[in-house]
Amino acid sequence: MKKNIHIILLGPPGCGKGTQAQKLIREFGFVQLSTGDMLRAAISKGTEIGMQAKSIIDKGELVSDEIVIGIVRDRIFSTECECGYMLDGFPRTLAQAEKLDQILSDRNQKIDVVFRLCVPDDMAIRRIAGRRFHITSGRSYNIEFNPPKIEGRDDITGEKLVQREDDKEEIVQSRLNTYHELTEPLVRYYQKQGILKAIDGTGSPENIYAEIKQTLNEVPA
Ligand code: AMP
Repeated sequence: MKKNIHIILLGPPGCGKGTQAQKLIREFGFVQLSTGDMLRAAISKGTEIGMQAKSIIDKGELVSDEIVIGIVRDRIFSTECECGYMLDGFPRTLAQAEKLDQILSDRNQKIDVVFRLCVPDDMAIRRIAGRRFHITSGRSYNIEFNPPKIEGRDDITGEKLVQREDDKEEIVQSRLNTYHELTEPLVRYYQKQGILKAIDGTGSPENIYAEIKQTLNEVPA
């Protein structure tokens, strides 16, 4: 497989991006750059960016392009990403995608492959409703499809699992609407660049992962 690979994981909330990212981290040590995680970390630290982002995230809307581009730019050129990275939840608008291309080309970098995980809205809604997180490690579970060994508790630490505020039903529909309106146009954008790989996200996580790995093996060195 090509070293120093740059991947985008694209898909609606609940499509399984996080699950696949965890698998890629475990097997290949890729660095995951999740703008959602970065923003949640900023909120819990009480930074200026966190304070600006909180009410927007709670409503299921998108944080401004300037803010997310700023936090991603700081990370993609850091030493931790020298061996490659996968972007999870970024870009989410055409403006973000165009800016990312510009930032990368200034440094002679480019995105190698964009995995689009396709799932219908009703499945995404069911998956999100069951999602629970262990805050400190980022480990995720699903009470229906991937339950913890002890209800409500992290398998490793035994600490409490929580549901994200924006995973609550009233907000999820709004996040999906935002996805269809603002993020789905990226499918065409990356199709035109010839780097989009669409994957059926309704199958088992193992089968999806196998398809991702096969594509990664075919990325030219
Ligand atoms: P996620 O964890 O990827 O589902 O992101 C949670 C929330 O963070 C989203 O619903 C947005 O409010 C915000 N967010 C994350 N990534 C972005 C982005 N690339 N652009 C704008 N807002 C974002």
